[in-house]
Amino acid sequence: MSQRNHTKLFIPGPIEVSEKTYRAMCRPMIGHRSGDFKKLYGGIQPRLQTLFGTTRPVFLSTSSAWGVMEGAIRNLVSKKVLNCMCGAFSDKWLDVSKRCGKQAEALQVEWGSPITPELVREKLAQGGFDAITLIHNETSCGVLNPLKEIAAVVREFPEVMFIVDSVSSFSTMPISMDELGIDVLLTGSQKALALPPGLALFAVSERAMERAKTMGDRGYYFDFVEFAKNQEQDMTPSTPCISLIYALESKLEDIFTEGVEARHARHAALNAMVHDWVKARGFEFFAPEGYRSVSLTCVANNREIDLAEWVKRLREKHRIAIDGGYGKLKGKTFRLSNMGDETKETITELLAALDDTLA
Ligand SMILES: *Cc1c(COP(=O)(O)O)cnc(C)c1O
Repeated sequence: MSQRNHTKLFIPGPIEVSEKTYRAMCRPMIGHRSGDFKKLYGGIQPRLQTLFGTTRPVFLSTSSAWGVMEGAIRNLVSKKVLNCMCGAFSDKWLDVSKRCGKQAEALQVEWGSPITPELVREKLAQGGFDAITLIHNETSCGVLNPLKEIAAVVREFPEVMFIVDSVSSFSTMPISMDELGIDVLLTGSQKALALPPGLALFAVSERAMERAKTMGDRGYYFDFVEFAKNQEQDMTPSTPCISLIYALESKLEDIFTEGVEARHARHAALNAMVHDWVKARGFEFFAPEGYRSVSLTCVANNREIDLAEWVKRLREKHRIAIDGGYGKLKGKTFRLSNMGDETKETITELLAALDDTLA
């Protein structure tokens, strides 16, 4: 029986938040136009840029990731956007594009299959597109899309802005925005960064910022030009979630104390532990080899376990939460997160609890 006084989240977001992070959030409030705030924001900027792999400023949005995902559409799409779709989050981006009143087209593959560079080239070559959206790590089905190869294809189409969601992969593996020619790279707080929800982080290329300036109907709250103007003075357009920015500062300390490369290696090692367990227990992976996420594992329920029952047993006996399948994958897959602060010890504990309740 677990000694924990709360249910530990191994669902792929939100994930477990450390005591250190919670303590950081309890620091006294400061004015968002004060010198203290500017010092806070300015102080974390270089480390954020390192993690984004960019020399561009990193903006902080008080919203969940979807705010910036919608904002990217409103700021950058004037002709037509190609939405690459391979799971719940990426599928929804098409709907969001249309609700923003934009021309949008789907590049749809089966859930569990990756978006390939060939498919992207074929679509973009049809012409008329000036933006593309890609979810690097499709959290709903554990698919890791080949970002580098797709980036190379997108660069063949100079007019096309490359908008990339790294919500569940950010800081778990290298993603270099500038090197890959990404125009908008965005992430959220509650997944790979192991912070509470409510903060989104993003950076915008110079050429994308130029495009944004020419766009009508950008609105206010997610106007990239407003973010840039305020960021020049280490500020945000409106009052931000300062407590979460304290938490982010604390998390950056953690990340750079561990070392960015060591952090990547830890995620790979923990993911491999989960993969070994999956194979040893006779389960299959939902995503094909070579396209599997390193921050979570989406397992096919080929053993036809009663997932709802198992998830309940795990929660009651071990105070551990895992996910029993997203949307239409409910009952057909389960997902195990190894994001955030997990260690060999905590993943060992998770796998032991899975075994204990699977029997
Ligand atoms: C969770 C998730 C989102 C949506 O994040 P919100 O914080 O709910 O806006 C978007 N993309 C991916 C890949 C996600 O995992």
